[in-house]
Amino acid sequence: MFIPLVCAQCRKAYCAAVCPVRAIRRDKRTGALLVDEEACIGCRLCAMTCPIGVLNVKPDGGVVKCDLCAGDPYCAKYCPTGALKFIEPEKAPSKKRAKIAEEVLAPLMAARGGGLIESGR
Ligand code: SF4
Ligand code: SF4
Repeated sequence: MFIPLVCAQCRKAYCAAVCPVRAIRRDKRTGALLVDEEACIGCRLCAMTCPIGVLNVKPDGGVVKCDLCAGDPYCAKYCPTGALKFIEPEKAPSKKRAKIAEEVLAPLMAARGGGLIESGR
């Protein structure tokens, strides 16, 4: 079975919260969390911390993550069955999202013994 895992551009993002040099920041226009390659020191903490493992280490030591293709994600655009959809955060069914996030993240947050830092979305 093949299931695509895609970055959720989390409202409270572990990847941004753990970055020691604040190299992962929210793009105000698209809502995507972007890696500032100039600031990144290649520590990989973000990749180790992402709960769904969608931050990848590049051969040169940096990291790469979904940037929402500047606001028009190709994965959703070209999905032949429409299984992947890009929904603006304001239009997303927030209750459903909150429930899923709670189910997935609550055990992780409990294991870490604390909450998350808001990343500004
Ligand atoms: S890389 Fe992981 S933690 Fe960061 S926004 Fe995407 S899903 Fe959330
Ligand atoms: S690899 Fe780069 S972006 Fe990721 S936590 Fe380290 S410095 Fe931040």
